Amino acid sequence: MICITIRRNTDTDLIMTIHGIPPDVLAALEHLLGQGGVAADAANMAKYLVDWSGDHHGAAVAVLKPASVAEVQAAVRLCDTLGLAMIPQGGNTGLVAGAIDIGTACGAVIISLERLNRIRVVDGDNFTLQADAGCILQHIKDRVEDQDCLFPLALGAQGSCQIGGNAASNAGGVNVLRYGMARDLIVGLEVVLPDGELWNGFSGLRKDNRGYDLKQLFIGAEGTLGIITGVEVKLFPKPGKVETAYLGLRSFEAAIALFRQARRGCSDLISAFEIIGAECMELARLVDPDTVTPVTAPVHVLIELSSSAAVDLRTLLVDFLASAMENELVADAVLAESGAQARAFWAIREGLVEGQAKRGYHVRTDLSVRISDIPTLIAQARDFVARDHPGWLSAAYGHAGDGNIHFSVLPPLDLAEPDARTTGAAITTGLYDITNALGGSISAEHGIGRTRSRVYWAGMSPVHRQLVTTLKDALDPNRLMNPGCLFPVTENLS
Ligand SMILES: Cc1cc2nc3c(=O)[nH]c(=O)nc-3n(C[C@H](O)[C@H](O)[C@H](O)COP(=O)(O)OP(=O)(O)OC[C@H]3O[C@@H](n4cnc5c(N)ncnc54)[C@H](O)[C@@H]3O)c2cc1C
Repeated sequence: MICITIRRNTDTDLIMTIHGIPPDVLAALEHLLGQGGVAADAANMAKYLVDWSGDHHGAAVAVLKPASVAEVQAAVRLCDTLGLAMIPQGGNTGLVAGAIDIGTACGAVIISLERLNRIRVVDGDNFTLQADAGCILQHIKDRVEDQDCLFPLALGAQGSCQIGGNAASNAGGVNVLRYGMARDLIVGLEVVLPDGELWNGFSGLRKDNRGYDLKQLFIGAEGTLGIITGVEVKLFPKPGKVETAYLGLRSFEAAIALFRQARRGCSDLISAFEIIGAECMELARLVDPDTVTPVTAPVHVLIELSSSAAVDLRTLLVDFLASAMENELVADAVLAESGAQARAFWAIREGLVEGQAKRGYHVRTDLSVRISDIPTLIAQARDFVARDHPGWLSAAYGHAGDGNIHFSVLPPLDLAEPDARTTGAAITTGLYDITNALGGSISAEHGIGRTRSRVYWAGMSPVHRQLVTTLKDALDPNRLMNPGCLFPVTENLS
């Protein structure tokens, strides 16, 4: 099979190598999916072949856009018969090249879920919602607000990512501390298996201990075991009260000590606890040059308390912070006086991912360690960068309440991108080594995708490798579902 490739040359222009898909295959796909259901020309495929960050440019023989579950099944059946590899794609906001082929599976079709975007049922009585996999996360969040409910999954990409992509990547975000990751929020799934069969795992039941919990296989599988077409999620009462404060602290040690005290001191009502190194403010200003930092201190903390009950959160937070300031744990604190001010605080945190993408190529990580090891991780990582790669800038921020740090490293602005990428690969390896030595994980929430498959695979124990391979072979014996993602293609899986 011949494919369309879009890749960058050194001048960052796009070079297109356009071949094509055999006309009979294209005709068969168009027959199945109808008008608007297939894109096979470079112009119409372009947006599906570049990821959100612009870091990764991919290839595909065609982009399929089924508009119903039956069309997903029909397309998958045909691809299975033809031996065509399939790459499920949601909002394409993933940061590890899981939804685009970066040269490992030339000859694949992308199956975009964007036309499968209906909210099926909002059940306020049972606090559940069923939606097509292609629904944008923000649309789901907005829709349940009408019923005085909350769907708590919250991340910077929520205006573009899809609920199916959230399930497939087991997304985390800023409210994991209180509500858990996508895995904890999903009640049921509907999945088209690699041979086109449909597994309907919807029951609406929150407790169901019959046999294997199959949905958990597909959550976080990054589209390697099947295509999620529907998701049923838990809803929560909408918090009537939310209090947000932006704090300045002298060190990451102080931030972790504060977190420990806050969990108890705030009656376990914390819904977010984010830390930001002051060096990250430069990134926030790349998104909004008018960003005003509420505090001046080496480490910033964004803390949010929320409750749906009549709890006086304001007094709770003020009293807690007063005592933390008295104990010299907190140097400076600004409480949001309005929803707008709270949103402005969050815009600083949420702008960081976008700001670093705007700056250009950079090393992006998604590390997790035990919460108490966060200061050590950041100190060791900063020392390593300063010592071995002077001129590169460290930027540490993350969901500290979950032990998750995004440690980014930004190249000198005058370094040519190919050189930066070479050095960046060495820096990534160094950061992974530091994390592994602390018993941490190289992927707290973004997943493995294609960019980390080799290192993930290399670090597996033989038993782990055997189990993962057995599962893959059982569900996708022809290995057509998202090849190169999670499993490096050159690896002998059998
Ligand atoms: C600004 C920004 C902030 C972010 N913040 C966070 C964060 O705080 N926490 C976090 O966890 N992530 C974060 N991310 C990463 C990303 O948004 C999440 O991983 C998101 O869940 C991906 O959803 P998506 O629909 O864009 O999936 P895609 O990027 O399209 O795909 C991701 C993976 O899931 C697979 N997939 C997609 N849809 C399906 C489907 N229907 N069935 C089967 N497989 C499928 C793909 O093949 C791929 O392997 C952020 C990204 C950006 C750009």
